[in-house]
Amino acid sequence: MDCKEAELLLHEYLDCDMCEDGRLKIQAHLNSCPKCNGKFSFEQGLREMVKKCCKAELPSDLCSRISKMLDCEKNSDLRA
Ligand SMILES: [Zn+2]
Repeated sequence: MDCKEAELLLHEYLDCDMCEDGRLKIQAHLNSCPKCNGKFSFEQGLREMVKKCCKAELPSDLCSRISKMLDCEKNSDLRA
């Protein structure tokens, strides 16, 4: 797996929408690639923050706005 492939699969991985085989492959790449590992940590932190926000007493429209923002980011990643 190269960095380009890892980046494409990153969101799938973070959204827990990946088969065990794929998860192992991306984990192997993250272990050997500091660049992707940093990106992964950042994205994971972002998602955890969003989850926490959604559990807290925030208006639900704010949560959906953040989710949409993440979706936009996902799409721009794919285009880049
Ligand atoms: Zn990489």
